[in-house]
Amino acid sequence: MTTQQFFSTQKSIQVATDKREAAMQNPGFGSVFSANMASARYTAADGWHDGQIAPYAPLAIAPSALVFHYAQEIFEGLKVYSQEDGSISLFRPDANARRFVKSAERLAMAPLPVELFLESVEKLALTDRDWIPKQRGSSLYLRPVMFASQAALGVKPANEYSYYVLACPVGDYFKDGNSGISLWVSENYSRAGIGGTGEAKCGGNYAASLAAQAEAQRQGCDQVVFLDSREKTWVEELGGMNIFFVFKDGSIQTPPLGGTILPGVTRDSLLKLAARLGIEAREEPYSIEQWEADARSGKLVEAFACGTAAVITPIRQVKRATSEFAIGDAKAGAITLQLKNALLDIQQGRAEDPFGWVKRLA
Ligand SMILES: *Cc1c(COP(=O)(O)O)cnc(C)c1O
Repeated sequence: MTTQQFFSTQKSIQVATDKREAAMQNPGFGSVFSANMASARYTAADGWHDGQIAPYAPLAIAPSALVFHYAQEIFEGLKVYSQEDGSISLFRPDANARRFVKSAERLAMAPLPVELFLESVEKLALTDRDWIPKQRGSSLYLRPVMFASQAALGVKPANEYSYYVLACPVGDYFKDGNSGISLWVSENYSRAGIGGTGEAKCGGNYAASLAAQAEAQRQGCDQVVFLDSREKTWVEELGGMNIFFVFKDGSIQTPPLGGTILPGVTRDSLLKLAARLGIEAREEPYSIEQWEADARSGKLVEAFACGTAAVITPIRQVKRATSEFAIGDAKAGAITLQLKNALLDIQQGRAEDPFGWVKRLA
């Protein structure tokens, strides 16, 4: 058996056009799901097996499944784009596949081979290609997820796992994406610590971030931004997005990956794209004190958050326990918009793809 036939499409379905179009009218983010999902199972005895594309439906899982008790769960997020020429494409799916392997290793789970990850997302995208919205900025968001399904209460890595890929047609993540978000600087909570799971894409990191996010909302802010857990000094990232700073001299900067920051595909793409656009880009630590001082002096003129879901979102305001400061003139800045448009143009096939990032599907 070649791995290209691992996921059978025999049970997949198509839904009536009017039903699909009604569901896609106003999809928001993550509440509308396509007709099908991909799935596969792993057991220590049989390895990965039972790959299929089948109708999206609830699961039957034992209440004793290890995921519910010890949180062995990882996920990914990537988008299918409809291209100008009518074809469909994925953006750097190999990077997500490799990160999924690394996340699995960190959580002592059975890694899903890169080829199987790629086949699952490609086949689901092709099966449900009618669910890909065509408007600029819209796409079909794919959510691969894997968890420990073994029914047992012992504290040990599971020997059975389930893998699924869900697909959601999505519009903008933030309703008014270019007007900017406000951030609350968390001092009570950390997202990740040295030697922890910060660089793995696991639900546990999100669970750890939610109380801080709720605190941000109580403070009237859109999102929380985390500092390093040891010194409470260095800006790390948001709950689910990386962060960039833009300076008056035209350079950009993002915190270096050091085990506590999630290595975003968007972050990496922007670093490479910046170099090509002639924008100086640094990976260097930046303290919250310096950020506030530079925003006040005008040395820092823009800041933005980035990730697959939200693409690039300008930051307009930062609130701390003791102070508050604005970024630039509170509108999306020139470099933020230049990078956002350059990235979207490559992703949606409107510009050449010098890095070979776009994977067109047959
Ligand atoms: C997924 C994620 C990001 C963004 O990664 P992308 O690959 O760019 O989507 C950033 N931070 C966290 C915590 C994440 O989970």
